[in-house]
Amino acid sequence: MAQQQIKLVRGMHDILPDEFDAWYQIEDSWRKLAQAYGYRQIRTPILEKTALFHRSIGEVTDIVEKEMYSFEDRGGDHLSLRPEGTASVVRAGIEHGLLNDQQRRLWYSGPMFRRERPQKGRYRQFYQLGAETFGMPGADIEVELMQLVARFWRQIGLQDIELQINTLGTAESRRTYRKILVEYLNDHHDQLDTDSQRRLQSNPLRILDSKNPDMQAMIEAAPKLRDSLDAESAEHFARLQTLLDANGMDYVINPRLVRGLDYYSHTVFEYVTTTLGAQGTVCAGGRYDALVEQLGGKPTTAAGFAMGIERLVLMLQEQDRVQAQPAPDIYFLMVGEKPQQIGQSIAESLRDQLPDLRLITHCGGGSFKSQIKKADKSGATLALILGEDEAQQRQIGIKFLRQHKDQMTIEQTQLAASLPSLLSE
Ligand code: ATP
Ligand code: MG
Repeated sequence: MAQQQIKLVRGMHDILPDEFDAWYQIEDSWRKLAQAYGYRQIRTPILEKTALFHRSIGEVTDIVEKEMYSFEDRGGDHLSLRPEGTASVVRAGIEHGLLNDQQRRLWYSGPMFRRERPQKGRYRQFYQLGAETFGMPGADIEVELMQLVARFWRQIGLQDIELQINTLGTAESRRTYRKILVEYLNDHHDQLDTDSQRRLQSNPLRILDSKNPDMQAMIEAAPKLRDSLDAESAEHFARLQTLLDANGMDYVINPRLVRGLDYYSHTVFEYVTTTLGAQGTVCAGGRYDALVEQLGGKPTTAAGFAMGIERLVLMLQEQDRVQAQPAPDIYFLMVGEKPQQIGQSIAESLRDQLPDLRLITHCGGGSFKSQIKKADKSGATLALILGEDEAQQRQIGIKFLRQHKDQMTIEQTQLAASLPSLLSE
């Protein structure tokens, strides 16, 4: 009896070979770029103590309240699959003494887990690329982060992405603003949805971020944080704009850009696209000067960002910007017993001599006809043909798969020397 098929877990997704043109485009160019700007990679475990996220992200956030995959393991430890990367990077930085009185530029990438409603561009396991910097309190490093991301968009060929900035000010100015905002929201209590009514006490700033269409007009008319900024906050934000202008960076100020977490301060920024509908944020970042201390380290200033790779892949596809990975150079046919015995060592010696060669050897036997079909399908430029005759005479046949040119036969000893020019013709 046939076994019943076991399917993928809801909200998860398989990334299939055809999609890796886009993934490599993103990951390869990110890695080069991060290195070029002096950022060094850090890789932390997917599993952390649940307390790490409770203390960093906060108890009254969507992520901690309803999105985390948390469980008790067999030893009774409370663990969670990480929903984001910053908390782990800070934990590791403190634990390994990377953050004490020093400047650091770090980057990471890997899967994150949030149990939210799956839709296009929104999964329960998704990948993020991110950067975190430590020990640099000014707007200059924030501009660098924005420039790094802008250059990344240019390198991978993405368009229609807008830089939005805002300031959350100091903790003091946020406290002042919070009072004013709660007063306003109380006056409009009948217009708040149940989520927002709940947040009114716990996390009122997050209400500004609501996507509920019925609340938009009321939110639009709400008092602005900008008007509650103290001198230090205003100065930091003005400095950021001066530097962005001096660097010729395009941006818009979006007063509704908030993060409902206490560890954020001063600058927040997002790169937003119009091509992905509601899932338009492709990169989110900001300053989080309070987090290191909150997680048990010495007070250390910090700023960083994270971007969702799946959304970038979708954009590359929609904007028709995916660059195909190069096709194989060679498909190597081995027809007959003797050719199958010696073919693989000929292929290995070619790989020794031409380390960049993209070479597929035929496995599985079969007729010339079936092998040449596979060669053609592979997209390779050339087919190398080793039959009984060629094996006997220490020769090899070369067939041009993409050009109208006569097949030729050369000595096996000449092969490595001849291939580079044959492939570039
Ligand atoms: P959103 O408002 O879209 O839910 P967020 O504020 O929860 O985003 P962040 O925590 O700032 O997102 O994460 C940074 C980036 O990670 C987002 O801009 C997005 O590109 C990506 N991202 C977040 N959640 C998901 C998800 N469930 N699936 C795919 N990508 C995601
Ligand atoms: Mg979210």
